[in-house]
Amino acid sequence: MSFESLGLRAELLRAVSEKGYSVPTPIQRQAIPVILAGQDIMGGAQTGTGKTAGFTLPLLQRLMSFDKTSGRRPIRALVLTPTRELAAQVAESVRIYGKHLPLRSTVVFGGVSINPQKMKLIKGVDILVATPGRLLDHVSQNSVNLSKVDILVLDEADRMLDMGFIHDIRKILALLPGQKQTLLFSATFSAEIKKLANKLLKSPALIEVARRNATAESVTQVVHPVDKSRKRELLSYLIGSKNWQQVLVFTRTKHGANRLSEQLNKDGIIASAIHGNKSQGARTRALADFKSGKVRVLVATDIAARGLDIDQLPHVVNFELPNVAEDYVHRIGRTGRAGNDGEAMSLVCIDELKLLKDIERLIKHKIPGDVIDGFEPDPSIKAEPVNKGRGKQHNTRKSTRNKSTGNKAASHRGNQNRPRNQGRRNLQGARQ
Ligand code: AMP
Repeated sequence: MSFESLGLRAELLRAVSEKGYSVPTPIQRQAIPVILAGQDIMGGAQTGTGKTAGFTLPLLQRLMSFDKTSGRRPIRALVLTPTRELAAQVAESVRIYGKHLPLRSTVVFGGVSINPQKMKLIKGVDILVATPGRLLDHVSQNSVNLSKVDILVLDEADRMLDMGFIHDIRKILALLPGQKQTLLFSATFSAEIKKLANKLLKSPALIEVARRNATAESVTQVVHPVDKSRKRELLSYLIGSKNWQQVLVFTRTKHGANRLSEQLNKDGIIASAIHGNKSQGARTRALADFKSGKVRVLVATDIAARGLDIDQLPHVVNFELPNVAEDYVHRIGRTGRAGNDGEAMSLVCIDELKLLKDIERLIKHKIPGDVIDGFEPDPSIKAEPVNKGRGKQHNTRKSTRNKSTGNKAASHRGNQNRPRNQGRRNLQGARQ
């Protein structure tokens, strides 16, 4: 199937072909005709499936076909995303796919000055991409009017709820016209998401490309059992011995991300950390350096990494397993994107066996284990409770919006310099 057969107009086909896409991805094949027909959508799709083009292309086409209201340009399409990075990436897609059309778009998110955003909004835009908190700031300062929105997109709705944005979303919904087309995308479907969808969507088309909570098939997954105190050493060893040039590494806490990136730099591996306590400038720079190859390892927390679009990311490492099993699916969705093969490794210590079990229950299969020679876990080490560093990050809107709140992540258990046991022991056995 080609993009031409989906009913897209010439300007969009030109932009798509200039971007180098020749065949639509499954979500694009399913979503584009439905959105063009004006129907609501409940889309089950992770990042990496091509969903951004899946909603952006038909959205642009729909805006071209609506009557333009005279006078100042009203906002006719609103895209809400959970994070600043995702907002910036969606806005970039809107710009690229819409470059041959006379539509104007802009993006607003927190962590940067509000005034330049106001200036752009005052000039009038057809499409606004926004994070909920900053959008409400603009509402309170009268720099946006949402009363003419024809199309609403909620991107990564599950993450927006996870991050405590539900109240902000409700406030925003109250400002939108009742009559509109709504497109809701979510990688997972909790009861909360279903409740939101029931309220918001009118006879939606259900589009699901990956099995619910399933992990992408093009991703090879493996668990490397290892003692907690030796994880950093194992990571450096894997990066060096396998000569990985671009690795995304996940930690549970912001503090852990900083510490690991500092340690890797000391090992001679150029690394940067990306998390909610970094300024927007520092986050953008870290991402750009990682994309360009200047930085070899990007260490990220779940929220900071959510939705990052990094082409053909070959390796993702879970330095620590996430507390929430669904986050595992999101994390490894960063690799094996749009048809490329990827590898997702999890460094798992004895404390994390329960988290691993939860993940395996969610994805409905066991992840194969592989003990690396020289890094065999010490059988005398007993499990201790895992600290819940992530709680602070997703509870309140404040914690994700206000960079100056300081690092409140729970303190890490220090490296325990326990005696090393050279005997081989497969942790997989202990997981039964
Ligand atoms: P997304 O799921 O929207 O974040 O897209 C994931 C990646 O797939 C991005 O790097 C897109 O540029 C890329 N992509 C989207 N659509 C296609 C396509 N039809 N063919 C090849 N790559 C695509």
